[in-house]
Order: sequence, then structure tokens, then C-alpha cells
Amino acid sequence: IKLIELLSSFVGTAIANADLYSRVEEQNKEIEQLNSDLEDQNRQLADLARRDRLTGLYNFGFFHEELTRRINEYQRSNGLNFLSLVLIDIDFFKKFNDTHGHVAGNVALQDVATRLKKIARRMDVVCRYGGEEFAIILPKCDVEGARMFAERLRSCIEKKPVEIETGSVSITTSVGCAEYIPNENISDYIVRTDEALYRAKQNGRNRVEVAKSSVDKEFLAESEKVHSFTDPKK
Ligand code: GH3
Ligand code: MG
Ligand code: MG
Repeated sequence: IKLIELLSSFVGTAIANADLYSRVEEQNKEIEQLNSDLEDQNRQLADLARRDRLTGLYNFGFFHEELTRRINEYQRSNGLNFLSLVLIDIDFFKKFNDTHGHVAGNVALQDVATRLKKIARRMDVVCRYGGEEFAIILPKCDVEGARMFAERLRSCIEKKPVEIETGSVSITTSVGCAEYIPNENISDYIVRTDEALYRAKQNGRNRVEVAKSSVDKEFLAESEKVHSFTDPKK
């Protein structure tokens, strides 16, 4: 009888263990699921933090980070790659708002964003730089490619009016583009692109201007050297 009692308690313990084991298994699976849900939510949050609310494009913060990354990548490629930047500014947008209202202005901004995304390649990084300005990073794209791309953007926006509640309104954009010059720092690069955009405004708007190329830059650097030799102040 002792033996039977012992045996049955052993079997009882084994069954209880198996039961416990399967419950632990189940709970582990639940924990795994919760962890993966949490990871998804973190990813969504991170994505939300780098997007512009109105247009869904990347925001300025992400633009800056991404351009820094692309410049570093360029430096590592030892000049075997290209990198270009395009800055787009809607012409006379203050007047658009004054005439059609801020809500219609927002519709126009969303429409422009959609067109930019449609024209950009998958690898291009389309951002809202601020207000009515957009920036697009073009990896593996030289200055000629950037100019053609910028021209396509400009004409795509000019060609088809924006549809707002009260009707259709034509808008235009001015665009500056620049190919990255080796060893140029990020703010110099943005300023150089912005200068091209400024020239597009100066030269009558609704047009593309290209920043000075690296060849010009080298030439400038050389002439600066010569200049510093002859200038006693330097
Ligand atoms: P320019 O051709 O020289 O670029 O002239 P502009 O009027 O476009 O330039 P300005 O910088 O004077 O005005 C920009 C306008 O963009 C003013 C501002 O109200 C408008 N704007 C900026 N952000 C938003 C936005 O989120 N929504 C709307 N509706 N308007 C915006
Ligand atoms: Mg502007
Ligand atoms: Mg403007």
C-alpha cells in the first residue's frame, strides 16, 4: 500500500508539473506577443516623431539627420558616389493664403507634397523643410540628374492647378539644386543650395537654378590662394 501511495503521489506530481509547464509556455508566448506589440508601437512612435503632421513628409529634424548620414556615407565612398540636394519654395504663397485662406493653403501644401513624392525615386528623401519649403535629398544623383529632377518637379506643379473648395488655382515654385562637394560641411552645403534657390527667385521665380559645381569651387579656392598671396592683410 505504501508503494501504491508513493506511486500515485509521484504520478500526481508529474501531472501537476506538466500542467505547470504548459502554463509557463503559454505565458511565455503571451510575453513574446506583448514584446513584439511594444516594438511595433515604438516603431510607429519613432516614425511619427520624424514626420510632418500636415503633409506626412519627413520633418526638418529628420532631414538634417539624414543629410548628415548621407554626407558621411559619401565621405566613406571616396568620391565613387554622388549626392544632390534640392530645395523648393512655393512662389508668392503668402498671397495664396491671403486670397484663398489658410485652410486652402494647407490643401495646396498637401497637394505639392503628394506630387513631390510621386516624382521622387524610392531612395530619395522627401522632406518638408518648413513653412512652404521642401527639401529632397537625392542619393547617387549628380548635378545634371538633380537639375532634370528639379525641372520635372517645377513643371509638374506649374502644369496642373491645385483644387481647392472654391475652384482651381495655379501655383508655381522656385527650385535650387546642388551636388555635394567633397569635404563640404552640412551647413555650407545647405547655404549653397539655398543661394541657388534665392537666385531662382531673383531671376523671376517659377524656375530652377543650379549651384556652382565642384569645378568652379576648386577654381574659386585656387584664385583665393593667389589672392591671399597678393593681399598683405591675409
Ligand atoms: P516668395 O515667392 O518670395 O517665396 O514669397 P512667399 O509669399 O511665398 O514667401 P513668404 O516667406 O513671404 O511667405 C510664406 C508664406 O507661407 C507665409 C505663411 O503664411 C505661409 N505658410 C507657411 N506655413 C504654412 C502652413 O503650414 N499653412 C499655410 N496655409 N500657410 C503656410
Ligand atoms: Mg519661403
Ligand atoms: Mg515662398
